[in-house]
Amino acid sequence: MVNRGVAVYEGKVFVGVIDGRLVALDAADGSVVWETVTVDQSEPYTITGAPRVANGLVYIGNGGAEFGVRGYVSAYDATSGALEWRFYTVPGNPADGPDGAASDPIMAEAAATWSGTWWDNGGGGTVWDAIVYDPDFDQVIIGVGNGSPWNHQIRSPEGGDNWFLSSIVALDARTGAYRWHYQTTPGDTWDFTATQPIVLTELTIDGAERPVAMQMPKNGFFYVIDRETGELISGTPVVPMFPTEATPPGFPLSWAYAIDEGTGRPVENPEARYRDGTAVVRPGAFGAHNWHPMSYSPETGLVYIPVQELALDYTTDPAFQAMSRHWNTGVAFAPFPEDAPTRQAVIGGATGYLAAWDPVEGREVWRVERAGAWNGGTLATAGGLVFQGTVDGLFQAVDATSGAVLWEHDNRAPTLSGPMTYEVDGEQYVTVLAGTGSAFFLIAGALAPETGAPMNGRVHTFKLGASAPVPPVDVEREPTPMPPTVTASAEQLQTAGLLYGRFCGVCHGVGAVSGGALADLRSSEALQSASEWQEMVLGGERTRRGMAAFEGDLTPEAVELIRAYVARQAALAYEAERGGG
Ligand code: CA
Repeated sequence: MVNRGVAVYEGKVFVGVIDGRLVALDAADGSVVWETVTVDQSEPYTITGAPRVANGLVYIGNGGAEFGVRGYVSAYDATSGALEWRFYTVPGNPADGPDGAASDPIMAEAAATWSGTWWDNGGGGTVWDAIVYDPDFDQVIIGVGNGSPWNHQIRSPEGGDNWFLSSIVALDARTGAYRWHYQTTPGDTWDFTATQPIVLTELTIDGAERPVAMQMPKNGFFYVIDRETGELISGTPVVPMFPTEATPPGFPLSWAYAIDEGTGRPVENPEARYRDGTAVVRPGAFGAHNWHPMSYSPETGLVYIPVQELALDYTTDPAFQAMSRHWNTGVAFAPFPEDAPTRQAVIGGATGYLAAWDPVEGREVWRVERAGAWNGGTLATAGGLVFQGTVDGLFQAVDATSGAVLWEHDNRAPTLSGPMTYEVDGEQYVTVLAGTGSAFFLIAGALAPETGAPMNGRVHTFKLGASAPVPPVDVEREPTPMPPTVTASAEQLQTAGLLYGRFCGVCHGVGAVSGGALADLRSSEALQSASEWQEMVLGGERTRRGMAAFEGDLTPEAVELIRAYVARQAALAYEAERGGG
C-alpha cells in the first residue's frame, strides 16, 4: 500500500520493500545488483520510507511501532550492500547488555529516560521516513517516530521523556555516532511522530546567518534548529493552540500551547494526557502535518506546508494486552465517538489548507483553504510557483508570494504525494501521483470529501501547451446493497464497535466507511452470511488477497458481533443513499 520513494546514486536505484529488504537495482536495466534483509523478519517490521544515499552509504530506517518493534536506522555500503553501522533510536533491555551498535555509547543515558519494562513492547521509535544528509557537517539528520505502545502511561509507567521518541537526531554520517538531538514531544502519548520531512538551509536570525534544520512534525509546532549544535532556535505553533482555561467552547484540547524559551520544552495541558479516561486532542494522531513533503523557497524565504486540523479522541485501553500481528497502541478506539459533543469536536473541525510560513518571524503569511484535511505535498519552484494536489482531486499552481491560484487541473482522484519537476530537451515538466491511497483513506474515509469515484494510482505529467485528455476513472462506486438483518442489543453493538475499532478499523475504516483504498465491508457479499463471514475473518479464506486471518485472536462469537456492527453501519448507509435517514 505504501512506499515513499527511491534513492538514485552512481548507476543504481535503491528501494525499500515492505518485508524489510533493501534492494539495489541497476539503473540501466532494473536487474538486482544486491539485496539485503535489514530487519528481523520474525518481528512485524516494515519499510515504507525512501532510502537516502550519500558518500557511498545508503541510509534506511523501518516502520512497525504500532505493532511493537524497536526502531533503528542503518547504513549500508552502496557498492556491496554490507552493513556499515546501525543506530537504535530507543534502548533495549539493559540486562541484555550492549547491542554492538553505533548507538551503544548513548544508550545508558537514553535508558535513564524510560521506566518499567518498555522493551516488552519494543519501545517504537521507528524512522519511517525523514532521513536527510547534511553535507556541511557530514551528518545524517533523522526524524524518529512514536512510541510503542502510544500510551505513555502503559509504555513507561513511572514517566520519563523516552529518548529518542519524537526526536530530531543528528548522527555522524560515516560512523553513526550520536551528535545531538531535540525531542519535539517528550513522553509522547499521542502518536506524535517527528518523521516528517526535514529541510536544511541557512536563515538569517537576529542578523547572523545560521545553518538550520526545519521541521513541522505531527504535533503542530514548527521548529527551527541550529544543525551544527542542535540548539533550538524557535518552536512556534502553526495551528491554534490554547491553554486549557482559554480553550474556546467545543474546541478540542491542545496537547501544548507554547515552547518554554528557557528549557526548550513544550508547555503542556496535563488533561490532554488522557490519564483518567477520554481526552479529545487536536492535533490528533493524523497530525497537523504528516508525511506530505513541505518545501522551502530561498527566493521568498517561505516554507509551504500542507497543514491540517484534525482531532482524535484518546481513551486509555483499560484491558490493554499486547497481541502479535495487531495494532498495540494502548488506546481504545471508539468506532465513532457516540456522544454528540465528542463526535462534533472530532469531526466538526476537520479542515486542511496550504500555508506559507515565515520561519524567521514564526508566522503564517497566507493560506489557501482546501476542501478537507489530508492534502498533497508541496513543490516550490524557482519560477515563483508552488504546486500542490488536493484531497478532492485538484492539482494547482499558486503564486509563491501571494498565494493566488494561477492554474489548476482536475486529476479526478485524491492527489496526495509530493510533486516533482524535471527538464527534458529544454522543456520543463511537472509530475505527480494521484489515487485513493494512504493511511487517511484506509482509516478515515468517513472524513474525506467525495471525489466521485475511487481510483487506482496514476501518474499525471504536465508541461506548458500540452493538451492530452485525462482518461476516465476506472472504478465506479457501487451503491450499498441491502444489508442482512443481524439481531444485537445496544450493549452488544457497543462491544462490537470496540472490537471493530481494535481489529478492523485501521484497514477498513472508522465506522466501516472505506475511503476506497480497501474493500468497503458494508458492501461485502460475505456480510450476508454468518458462515461466509466466519470463513473470511477466522478461516483465512482471503489471505491470498491480503486479508489477515484472525484465528486465535477473535472468537466466533466476537466475529459475529463484528458482523452485527458492520450490518448496522451498512443499514445506515443503505437508508441514507435512498434518502431515508
Ligand atoms: Ca504512528
